[in-house]
Amino acid sequence: MPELPEVETLVRRLREPVIGRTIEDVTIYWKRTVARPAPKEFARMLRGYTVQAIDRRAKYLVFTLLGVEALAGYSNRGATPANQPPTLFLLIHLKMSGKLRVVDHTEPLAKHDRVVFELDDGRQLRFNDVRKFGKMWLVADPEMVTGSIGPEPLDRTFTLPKFRELVRSRSGAIKPLLLNQEFLAGVGNIYADESLWLARIHPLRKTDSLTEAEVAALYRSIRKVLRTAIEDEGTDAGDGVIEGDYQPRVYGRTARPCYRCHQPIQRMVVAQRGTHFCPQCQPRRGRSRRH
Ligand SMILES: [Zn+2]
Repeated sequence: MPELPEVETLVRRLREPVIGRTIEDVTIYWKRTVARPAPKEFARMLRGYTVQAIDRRAKYLVFTLLGVEALAGYSNRGATPANQPPTLFLLIHLKMSGKLRVVDHTEPLAKHDRVVFELDDGRQLRFNDVRKFGKMWLVADPEMVTGSIGPEPLDRTFTLPKFRELVRSRSGAIKPLLLNQEFLAGVGNIYADESLWLARIHPLRKTDSLTEAEVAALYRSIRKVLRTAIEDEGTDAGDGVIEGDYQPRVYGRTARPCYRCHQPIQRMVVAQRGTHFCPQCQPRRGRSRRH
């Protein structure tokens, strides 16, 4: 599943071809991709809106849409300018296998294309989704979808004291906590394993067993791993979403030697997710029990 670096990479790639384009029509081939409003209303409302910005919040792509032309009476395919808000937000979550690409309208539809946005330059933004878990929302306020999500780990306001406070307010094992989107935005299975390996923390360590130094190391590791992965344009998870250059240091490396100590990497299941760690660098009992 694409995580923060992959979604960020996709957002950056879509900006150039899509910002400034007006959506002329929307065709929905798989109705359940549209979470809200009803699919017909979704398609009708989008017509005539211009993409002003594309951003990311957690693992969501957030398109800011301006209805200036709709309000000015622009009507390409029977769009009704009346009663349309000046700004709308299109949120897309790729889930397991969602892909977005911009192609010429003459290109034949692909097998799993679920939603097609016709742009005013003859190109189309196509959402392809083999597994069909991807979702879209068209809302007046993005918080209606993302309101319960935790802080952005790369945000300037996300400081070590804030992270420490968050960790200290929770109990239980650290890896499931990192996967919890209400705790922290955008970290999934790959980057949770990578961050814990870099910080030398076992995935099942309890939050209340972590020393101040370990919490600080984890904070720095999460940010370093995510920044590096964004620079590398994400990782190639084999799902065809993003074929980035980030090479995991521990994730998916079961039985191969640890890059730090050469012990074989082990795999176990934590919170129903395959979890990779080095038994030597990431001891279950912590490196220091001196308090
Ligand atoms: Zn190791």
